[in-house]
Amino acid sequence: MIITIRRQVSSEERIQLAALLQQLTGGQRPTISTLIEEREVIVLDDSQLDAQVYTAISLQGAVERVIQVQTPYKLVSRAFKAERSSILVGDVESNQAVTIGDAAEMPVIIAGPCAVESRAQLLSTAQAVKAAGAQILRGGAFKPRTSPYQFQGLGIEGLQLLREARELTGLPVITEVMEPDMVETVAEYADILQIGSRNMQNFPLLFAAGRNHFHRPVMLKRGLSATIEEWLLAAEYIVAAGNPDVILCERGIRSFDTHTRNLLDLTCVPLLHELTHLPVIVDPSHGTGRRELVPTMSRAAIAAGADGLILEVHPDPNSALCDGRQSITPEQLQSIVRETQIMSQVLEIKTNRSLVA
Ligand code: PEP
Ligand code: MN
Repeated sequence: MIITIRRQVSSEERIQLAALLQQLTGGQRPTISTLIEEREVIVLDDSQLDAQVYTAISLQGAVERVIQVQTPYKLVSRAFKAERSSILVGDVESNQAVTIGDAAEMPVIIAGPCAVESRAQLLSTAQAVKAAGAQILRGGAFKPRTSPYQFQGLGIEGLQLLREARELTGLPVITEVMEPDMVETVAEYADILQIGSRNMQNFPLLFAAGRNHFHRPVMLKRGLSATIEEWLLAAEYIVAAGNPDVILCERGIRSFDTHTRNLLDLTCVPLLHELTHLPVIVDPSHGTGRRELVPTMSRAAIAAGADGLILEVHPDPNSALCDGRQSITPEQLQSIVRETQIMSQVLEIKTNRSLVA
C-alpha cells in the first residue's frame, strides 16, 4: 500500500494516522516514509491486511490518496507509476546531461574499460569512446574480483582519473561502489553509482546509495542468480531510501553451460517494462564473456527494447588487467553505436517502448 500524505497536514492528523498504522501492522512490519517527486508517501506491505482497511486509511485527515499495490515491490512498480521513468545523468545545468529511459531520443551507450588501469589507458579509451559516439564513460576503480590475487583496481586514484577523463571528454562517468562507507566518496567523483552483481543484496549499501547526498542515480546490476522479484526488491530499497533514480542492468545470470560466462536473459527486458517504470539497460559484455558475441547480443538487446547498453572496451583487449576476453575494441564500439542508431530508427523503438505500457 502506498499512502500519499496531504500537503497541509496537522500534527494531530499525523499522530492519528501513525496510531492506525501501528495498530494495523501490530508494530511488526516497518512503514517507510519517503519523498517521491516532492510528495511525502508512506509505504507498507499490505499483503496481510483486509480490504476494509483501505477505506479506514483513506478516511484519515492526513491522507490524500491510497494505492493498493499487489506486488511485494511497491514504489518501483507500474501500479504506482504508470508512465515509464526518465533519468537525467551528468551536469543537469549544462547541455551535456544525458537522458536514460523513456524520454531519450535513442538507447544510451555506456562504454569504457572494465577497470581503470592507468592514466594513459583510461584517457585514450575515454577519447575513443567519445569519438565512437557513446554518451557515458564506464571504468571500475574498485573492482570486486573473484580471487584476492587478481588486480583489485586503483581505488581513489582511479576515481581521480575518471574525473580527469570526464573533464577531457565531457562524458559523464559511472563507476562501482562496493561498500556503504564509500558511497559519498564515490558519489563525489561519479555521475552514476554502479552497484555490482555481487552486491545486489548488500542492503546497507543499497540504503547508503539511496541516501547519497549528491543525488547520484544508481545503476543496479542483477545479482548472479537473482530472480526478477529479488532484483526489483533490491531496487525498492534504494527508492524507499529516497533515491528514485535507479537504472536496472541485466548482465546475465548463472546457468549450467560453460560456453558463455553467463546466460544473458533478454526476456527480462520486455518483462521488466511491464513490471516496473525504471529504465532497463543490458550488459552484453558480462552477459556473454566473449567479445565476438557482444555485437550480436547488443543488437538483440536493442531489439528487445533495452533503454541502453553498457559495454567493456579496451584499446588492447588482450592486455587488459580485467575482463579482456569480453572487451571489444573502439572500432567494434563504433559499429555498435552506428547499428544502435539505425536500429532505433528502423524499429521505432521509442514508439514500441511506449506501446509496452
Ligand atoms: C563490471 O561491470 O565490471 C562488473 C564487475 O560487473 P558485474 O557486477 O555485473 O559482474
Ligand atoms: Mn568487468
